Amino acid sequence: MADREPTSFTQIVADLDAKGYNSMGFAIDDGAVVCLECDTATGVEDTKVGGLLGYEADGGEGVVLVMACPSCAAKGMLFAGPELRNGPSGAVVDALAERARA
Ligand SMILES: [Zn+2]
Repeated sequence: MADREPTSFTQIVADLDAKGYNSMGFAIDDGAVVCLECDTATGVEDTKVGGLLGYEADGGEGVVLVMACPSCAAKGMLFAGPELRNGPSGAVVDALAERARA
């Protein structure tokens, strides 16, 4: 499970941003991860997930996946709130979270 550090979520995201995870980020589309920098869709199995953060959000728990694009090497984050996790892309979020723990 994600650590429950008292450090504020905003601070963690700011730290990641400062470390270079400052691309436009990623989205999930049709079961694949899409890089918002180069528009390349990558399957979950080919996506490198460097970390996972949990956070409390309205309506449940969200996760932030820290990832790098295998196509353009952009580093960024995918914010998956409760709405996304409970929708059709939820299985993709879960699969990515599994990779973060591997
Ligand atoms: Zn890319």
